[in-house]
Amino acid sequence: MTSPRSAESTPRRSFWGWGNEDGGLDEAEREALKMMMGARLGVTELTELAIPRLEDVRLPEPRFAAPSSLVAVLSQDRYERAAHTYGKAFRDIVRGLEGDFTSAPDAVALPKDEEELRRVLAFCEERSLAAIPYGGGSSVVGGVEARVDGRFGGAVSIDLRFFNRVLEVDVTSRAARIQGGMLGPALEEALRPHGLSLRHYPQSFEFSSLGGWIATRAGGHYATLHTHIDDFVESVRVVTPSGVLATRRFPGSGAGPAPERLFLGSEGALGVITEAWMRLQQRPRFRASATARFVDFRHGAEAARQIVQAGLHPQNCRLLDGGEALNTGAGDGSRSLLLLGFESADHGLDAAMERALSIARGFGGEVKEGTGSTRETGEGARDGDAGTWRTMFLKGPYLRDALTRLGMIVETFETAVTWDRFEAFHAAVLDATTRAATEVAGTAVVTSRLTHVYPDGAAPYFTVIAPGKASGRVAQWDEIKIAATEAILAHGGTVTHHHAVGRDHRPFYDRERPDLFASALGAAKTALDPRGIMNPGVLL
Ligand SMILES: Cc1cc2nc3c(=O)[nH]c(=O)nc-3n(C[C@H](O)[C@H](O)[C@H](O)COP(=O)(O)OP(=O)(O)OC[C@H]3O[C@@H](n4cnc5c(N)ncnc54)[C@H](O)[C@@H]3O)c2cc1C
Repeated sequence: MTSPRSAESTPRRSFWGWGNEDGGLDEAEREALKMMMGARLGVTELTELAIPRLEDVRLPEPRFAAPSSLVAVLSQDRYERAAHTYGKAFRDIVRGLEGDFTSAPDAVALPKDEEELRRVLAFCEERSLAAIPYGGGSSVVGGVEARVDGRFGGAVSIDLRFFNRVLEVDVTSRAARIQGGMLGPALEEALRPHGLSLRHYPQSFEFSSLGGWIATRAGGHYATLHTHIDDFVESVRVVTPSGVLATRRFPGSGAGPAPERLFLGSEGALGVITEAWMRLQQRPRFRASATARFVDFRHGAEAARQIVQAGLHPQNCRLLDGGEALNTGAGDGSRSLLLLGFESADHGLDAAMERALSIARGFGGEVKEGTGSTRETGEGARDGDAGTWRTMFLKGPYLRDALTRLGMIVETFETAVTWDRFEAFHAAVLDATTRAATEVAGTAVVTSRLTHVYPDGAAPYFTVIAPGKASGRVAQWDEIKIAATEAILAHGGTVTHHHAVGRDHRPFYDRERPDLFASALGAAKTALDPRGIMNPGVLL
């Protein structure tokens, strides 16, 4: 057993669930959650599963030993292997709680520079080992799981935690060169002294990395204007089995297909993103936020569409249905709730907010008294309903784990669809999901929200909470997810708006993607990764 470098971050990350080992809900919070969900679902008997102990979990012996040249880089420590087995989807948490770590990687590589990383990739090529890049490990689509076929003699999870610095800041162009393994909070902390910010906030912000965001085309929240990480990527540096590929920095270029775009959404299948020059923004000084209530989701969605089509660019334009508002404590369940937020480093926002609220009122929106005016503080967006929602948003993953411990099926999925199909689409997906969940579990709560809205369409998000049967909760969820995804594809939506493809969405992605594009992508992979070791099973 080798453990070459200890994690630089303390406290230690949970090996089975979200966040740190000392994070999560305390006993009183878990008890309150149990009462609330029990009442909501009409379930009286909810027993809490114990947290797994590392010494008890099923973890196979590694299939190879680290060669002497890599002892300082490859860890085969029990904790590291268990902690790198899964991402953080519901199906991952369930398997973790059940102590099933049978697909653990044989080793975890912790390279501290590109030279060590190149040696790890060469070793994987030589020994036919799957090489799986690992940023924050927050994948919800099986993107980091070593579910690989018999061609491979084992798997190495390549953790980028030591690629954790901002290397250069170009204040004039408002951009920075940032290493791929940097997690959200550290990245923002390093930019703060320059008055700059990436302003990319996926819900997983605390425990996900720049390289992971780029590799999955992550979507930020509080970001209707700049939604996907794509918008911020100026150039990338990627270590591939065929060598290093570094694209040049341009604010824009018409010189052929853009090389850096190839790596957006590449999911570790083409190489390891070690650095990127990222476009930044000044930290906002002015903020305005408001909420409006609607009699139903349809009226709220119409208002959201008109607000973005008016070119107002709110940073936040998020619509919660009644159930979602109730779940997050931002409403009583009787009304849909539109959360609007504008921000700027440069100017007041009253005119834009006034126009957005007048559109909302045009669709019957009741605007909450005392909201909407510009505040020159960092705290404006956090008051009232929006503040309640934000707190719950960050706590959400811990709540999800707590509900999973109570034997629930609890998971979300997201998609995007153009406005012309939206109404029929939303109704069909909600119906298919509710029917499937009720069939599987007997009773279910399915809620919906619009997380991102565009001039040409919206990204609806759905959450399912249902009492799972005692065993086989992964299969129960899979049945619901298949029904939901079939409805999504049949009604013109995408298999994912921002969660990537991974291993879980592969069969559906293959149906969405043009065949010739798959061939072109396959050719690019062959050029960069001729032996096919890079994250096999995702994308291709
Ligand atoms: C509770 C929760 C909330 C979430 N909220 C959001 C959200 O709001 N928006 C959103 O977009 N996603 C969200 N996600 C999904 C996930 O956080 C994103 O996909 C995120 O971008 C993954 O980043 P990561 O660093 O954790 O990547 P990992 O999970 O480590 O890896 C994800 C994929 O990227 C590859 N990869 C990672 N790093 C690199 C690298 N340096 N080079 C090449 N490939 C790499 C991996 O091989 C894998 O295929 C959420 C997940 C959870 C559990």
